[in-house]
Amino acid sequence: MPALILSIAVPTPLPGGFDYLLPENHSEQDIAALTPGIRVSVSFGPRILVGILLAVKQTSGYPQDKLKPALAIIDQQPVFSPDVFSLCQWAADYYHHSIGNVLQHALPALLRDGLPATYKPQRAWQLTTHGKGLAENALSNARSQHTLLNLLREHHAISRQDLTNAKINLTTAKALVDKGLAEEIEVSSEPVLSASQEPTSPLTLNPEQATALKALLANSDSYQSFLLEGVTGSGKTEVYLQFISHILDQGKQALVLVPEIGLTPQTQQRFAERFNQPVLVLHSGLNERQRLNAWLSATSGKAAIVIGTRSALFTPFKNLGVIIIDEEHDISLKQQDGFRFSARDAAIIRARNNNIPIVLGSATPSLESLHNAATGRSTKLVLSQRAGDSQLPQFKIVDIKNQPLQAGISQQCMHQLQQTLANGEQALVFLNRRGFAPSLLCHQCGWLAECNRCDARMTLHLSQRKLHCHYCDTMRPLPRACPICNDSQLITKGEGTEQIEQSLTRAFPQHCVIRIDSDTTTGKDGLSKLLEPVHAGQPCIMVGTQMLAKGHHFSKLALVVVVNADGGFFSADFRGPEKTAQLLMQVAGRAGREDKKGLVMLQTHYPDNPQLGNLLANGYQHFAQDLVAERKLLNLPPFGYMAMIRAEGTQPNQLDELLLEVKRVANCGAHITGPIPAPMSRRAGRFRAQLIVQSSERKVLHYALKLSEEWLANKKRIAHIRWSIDVDPQEMG
Ligand code: ADP
Ligand code: ZN
Ligand code: ZN
Repeated sequence: MPALILSIAVPTPLPGGFDYLLPENHSEQDIAALTPGIRVSVSFGPRILVGILLAVKQTSGYPQDKLKPALAIIDQQPVFSPDVFSLCQWAADYYHHSIGNVLQHALPALLRDGLPATYKPQRAWQLTTHGKGLAENALSNARSQHTLLNLLREHHAISRQDLTNAKINLTTAKALVDKGLAEEIEVSSEPVLSASQEPTSPLTLNPEQATALKALLANSDSYQSFLLEGVTGSGKTEVYLQFISHILDQGKQALVLVPEIGLTPQTQQRFAERFNQPVLVLHSGLNERQRLNAWLSATSGKAAIVIGTRSALFTPFKNLGVIIIDEEHDISLKQQDGFRFSARDAAIIRARNNNIPIVLGSATPSLESLHNAATGRSTKLVLSQRAGDSQLPQFKIVDIKNQPLQAGISQQCMHQLQQTLANGEQALVFLNRRGFAPSLLCHQCGWLAECNRCDARMTLHLSQRKLHCHYCDTMRPLPRACPICNDSQLITKGEGTEQIEQSLTRAFPQHCVIRIDSDTTTGKDGLSKLLEPVHAGQPCIMVGTQMLAKGHHFSKLALVVVVNADGGFFSADFRGPEKTAQLLMQVAGRAGREDKKGLVMLQTHYPDNPQLGNLLANGYQHFAQDLVAERKLLNLPPFGYMAMIRAEGTQPNQLDELLLEVKRVANCGAHITGPIPAPMSRRAGRFRAQLIVQSSERKVLHYALKLSEEWLANKKRIAHIRWSIDVDPQEMG
C-alpha cells in the first residue's frame, strides 16, 4: 500500500499546502481520524510550526524519499467548522493570501500555538461571609488589601484579569484568602454581557420598520442579502433586534459585525437587555484565554449572539442563522495590513455558503452596496424617517473665507455655541485631527518640524510637550529653538482638537469642554467615563475626531460644528468624496436625536463646492447616485475591478525594479499602472511603491494577481523588500 501523504497548510506566505508523510508513530487505525481542519505540528525549515491538514492524498508531486514525516497530530476533531474552513479557502484564493496564513488568522492565538481546544474557567475571588461582614474601614492600614476588599464589595467576583487591570498583585488576593476574608472560585470567562433587568420588550415598529422586518422574515431561512438603508436614528438597530429574536426562536445563532467595538457600548447593551440569552462581545481587550473560551462557546452553541469586529467573522457557530453588518460602509471592516480582507464582502460569501440571510445596515451605504442593490444582487430596504419623535438636523454652510477665526472657529459658530450652552443644550465640534497643531515652524527661517522617517510633518502635542508623527509613532521632545537658525520664535500652523479644546475652555469657562480623541480615551472605560457628563444631560461641548461620529446617541445634542468640511472632497483618492460625504452625514446624524431639530454648521473655504452643495441640497442618496454614475464613466469600482500590489523597502530603485518585473510577469490582459510611489512615498524609514492592477473582468484581474503572487512568494528575499497584494483596496496609499 502506498504511504499516505498529508497536505498541510503552514503559516508562510508561500501559497498552497505542503506535503508530509504520516508521523512516524502513527498507527493504522488513527488514519480514519485524519479529517481536514485538524492541527498537525511539522518541522518547516529550521522551525517547528502548527499547520492545518488540508487533505489526505495518495500521491505527491515530490519524490517520497524527499518528504519528511509530520511531527504529531494535535487534534482528534477539526478546529475548523466546515463552513469556516471553506470560507478561509475562498478568502485565500480571492485575496491572494496564503492559505496557511489565512487559516492561522482565523484561529484564537492559543490554538495557533497548539494548545488544546478545551474550555477552561478562570480563577477568580469573591468575599466570604466573614469578609462581607467586615467593617468599612477595616484593613485600611494595608493599602492594597483594602483596595481589593473594596473592589470585591463592588463586584460579585474579581478575575485574575481584573486583578491585573487594577494593578493588584496575586499575593494580595492570597493574603485575603489566608485571613478567611475571600475565597478562590472558578468563573466562566467568556465576555458575556449581562442584562441588568428583565428582558426589554420589542418596540412597536413604525410602518417602514414593519415593512423591512416583514421582508426579512419572508427570507429568514435561506440566503438573501439585504441592504438596510436608514438615516441615523431611523431604528435600524430595532429592526436587527426583532429579526434576531425570530432567528433565536428557531434555535439558531446570530453574528453581528461592527466597525469598532469600543465605540458602541450602548448598542451592545441593547442586545443584552433584549434577550434572555448570552451575548458575547469579542473585543481587543480580551485576554487569549477569554478569546478561546468565547470561541468555544460559539462553537458549542452556548452563545446565542456574537458581536465583534471584522475578525469575528471567522468564529465557528453550531448553527448560525443570520449575519448582520452594522455601518457596512465603514472602512475599518477592511483589514489594512497582513491578510487584507473585507469582513463585509467575505461575510456575504459566508452567508451564501451557509444559505442564511445577511443584513448590511448603514445610513450612508458604500457605493458597492448601493450598486449591488441597484443590480438586484441584494434587496434594499429603506427607513427614511427617524424613529420615535426625533427629527433630522438642518444644515448650514458657513463661509470662512477671509473671516477671523478663533482656533479655527468662526465668530458665527462661536456665537451659536454660546447660544446652545445658554439654552442648556449640548454641542459637538468635529475636527478629524488630534493634537494641538499639525505643524510647527520657525518664524525666522521657515524650518518645519518633519519626521525623519516619513514624508510627513510632526504634530505638536502641547500638553505632553512633544512632537509626534502620526504615521510611524516617532516622538520627539518639543524643541526650545529652531535647530537651523537657533531662533526661539517657533509658531504653529493649523489646529487640532487639543487647541480647540483649549480655546473653547477659555471662551466658556463655566461649562465643561470634553475632548474625545485617541489621546484622551485610553484605558478600558476611558470613553464612557469622559462621556458621563454628556449622558447626564449637562450643557457642554464635545470636541472630537471621528471617534465621535460613530454609533453614539446623544439625546441633548443640538449643535454640530464641522471645523473643516473641505478636506476629503479634494483628495487625490477616488474614494475621497464618498468617504467625506459619509463622515459628514454620520457626524451630522448625532444632532437632534430626540425631541428637537438639530443644527449642523459646516465651515468651508469653498462655499460653492458643487459636491458639498449637492450633498446638502439633495441628501446622501442622490449624492451617491451621482458618484456611481461618475465611477461608471471612469470604469472604477464598483464597475471595474481593482487591486494594488505594494512593495516597501529601503532602496527606492529596487522597489521599482521588483515591481517592473511583477508587471512583466502579470502581463495577461489586465491594465497595470506603475510602478508609482505611494502617496506617502516614505513611511517609518521605508520607501513605498505600488502597481495598480485593473480590469473590467474579475477573472482577468485574478489571473494577473495569481501570477504575481506565485512569482513574488517564490522569489527569495530581496534586500528586505516587503510586498503585499490588496484586492478591492479601500485606500490608495
Ligand atoms: P439606528 O440604529 O438606525 O441609529 P436605533 O434603532 O438606534 O436607530 O433607534 C434610534 C432611537 O429610536 C432609539 O432610541 C430607539 O430606541 C428609538 N426607536 C427605534 N425604533 C422605534 C420605534 N419603532 N418606536 C419608538 N422608538 C423607536
Ligand atoms: Zn529657524
Ligand atoms: Zn514618521
